[in-house]
Amino acid sequence: MQIELRNLTKVFPSRDKKSGEEVVAVNDFTFTIPDGQLIGLLGPSGCGKSTTLYMISGLQKPSGGQIFFGDEDVTEVSPEDRGIGLVFQNYALYPHMTVMQNILFPLQNLRGKDKMTKEAMIERAHQVARLVQIDELMNRKPSELSGGQQQRVAIARALAKMPRVLLLDEPLSNLDARLRLQTREEIRRIQKETGITTVFVTHDQEEAMSISDMIVVMKLGVLQQIGKPQEVYDDPANLFVAKFLGTPPINVFSGIVHNEMLYIGEAAVLPAPSVADQQVHVGIRPEAFVLDKDGPMTCQLNNVEVMGRDVSIVCTNEASENPIIRAIIDADARSAISGDSVRFSLKPHKVFLFGYEDEMRIRTSEVK
Ligand code: ADP
Ligand code: MG
Repeated sequence: MQIELRNLTKVFPSRDKKSGEEVVAVNDFTFTIPDGQLIGLLGPSGCGKSTTLYMISGLQKPSGGQIFFGDEDVTEVSPEDRGIGLVFQNYALYPHMTVMQNILFPLQNLRGKDKMTKEAMIERAHQVARLVQIDELMNRKPSELSGGQQQRVAIARALAKMPRVLLLDEPLSNLDARLRLQTREEIRRIQKETGITTVFVTHDQEEAMSISDMIVVMKLGVLQQIGKPQEVYDDPANLFVAKFLGTPPINVFSGIVHNEMLYIGEAAVLPAPSVADQQVHVGIRPEAFVLDKDGPMTCQLNNVEVMGRDVSIVCTNEASENPIIRAIIDADARSAISGDSVRFSLKPHKVFLFGYEDEMRIRTSEVK
């Protein structure tokens, strides 16, 4: 089911009576979620992810704009009639019911033409339980399950009605690191097997990047960028997006473009064809640095960290806007490091320029 948001907006009245300022939680969102895809809604806490999800679900009413499921305008349709399955961070299972009863619950409430026979409900419950691999646990109570198992039950319950759209609000936040990894792979598998259009909310960029067909990056209720995870990482629209995606994070320097040459400090580091003279922020991905004894960029060496496959060089530079710079290099190149400073050349396609004031991307004609 394709989901289309048209100028979707949500304004909350002020919580603080004195200031009286409204909160624009979601500001004029227009985008389309293609049928059968998994979309990651991504951004820091408070940026409007849950509000967007709840408007898609019907639990919250938009202040403006429309929501379409396929060709159908569902903006005024009640949550029960939208054909959605919802999963929350805190599982929200009924503690006194078994797994089976929890999954059956939404089916027992079906009325009219959707009403199911008892046999059909039980068959359906087993079917979704098998899908999320909890069919061995049907007679247990939630308290007898691990966090990961509880979340699977919550997903099974959301799938029981065969929703047109599956909505997940930070579903992995309460799980420990290993379970989080495992469960996100599970969600991806279930989504692929069912082909249900899925919206996955998270503040964790790595999580969103790893399982989404498309990510929607948001900040303070404003859409920043939409695209395939790798495309957004490789081609950020602004400094916020560049900083939000990637571990280790992008390194930011203040720089100057003069006569189509980019300077960081005194060093002419890269050509900047077709860019006017100006001060800029320079974003350099950790993997952009290449150890090069004749390279233009000199940094003071703090430390060399070996983490599994990766060798990262921790260093400093006066023009850096962050306290430290982190460069990830080839493990084999490590022997070339000696002394108190390191010299780098840069991979041009991993270096991005941003306006000093508006922080929007400045594109060069050759150097991306
Ligand atoms: P996220 O899920 O990205 O953390 P939310 O969608 O929950 O963000 O919230 C977005 C903004 O809207 C925040 O500033 C939040 O404080 C505000 N907000 C959310 N719900 C309400 C509400 N019921 N009343 C007033 N403000 C709200
Ligand atoms: Mg939220």
